[in-house]
Amino acid sequence: MSEDASEKRFIVDIMLGKVAKWLRVLGFDAACVRLADREQVDAYLRQGYILITRSQKWRGPPGIFQPTSNDPAEQLREVISGIPIQYHEVHPLRRCILCNERLQRIPHNQVFGEVPDYVFETNTLFQRCPRCRKLYWPGSHQQHMVERLRGLFAGSGLEIIHDEEGER
Ligand SMILES: [Zn+2]
Repeated sequence: MSEDASEKRFIVDIMLGKVAKWLRVLGFDAACVRLADREQVDAYLRQGYILITRSQKWRGPPGIFQPTSNDPAEQLREVISGIPIQYHEVHPLRRCILCNERLQRIPHNQVFGEVPDYVFETNTLFQRCPRCRKLYWPGSHQQHMVERLRGLFAGSGLEIIHDEEGER
């Protein structure tokens, strides 16, 4: 599958790693980068990336989004409503939350022994990260994370986000 040129792509300041992870959960290309100089920033902007950073150093050009909150969950909320991101742009289970790689579909029988028996028995669609080899399947944790965020896209903004990183 090739990337759709119309899809939003993000460069996220290394200080906002949790925001980058959440964007990957939502299926977006969200590389975490240490922004070093203006040339680098301008090059990303020319390539059509949306830059997310809290550093005032990069203030100014369009294409740079600056969350104001100190709280990661609130930062994500700002990004979703401020960019904005629509629910139809969201593609759960498309990208590795750790590596930002696109997941690759793999045959059912190849995961035998790698997942709990009930997961193997009840799922046929498995995907793997080509870099870290982590397996993803419908009904796995990531998909539930997206469901919990759904209220944010509807515009209600009432849904409470918990970062469940510690549970993984
Ligand atoms: Zn990975």
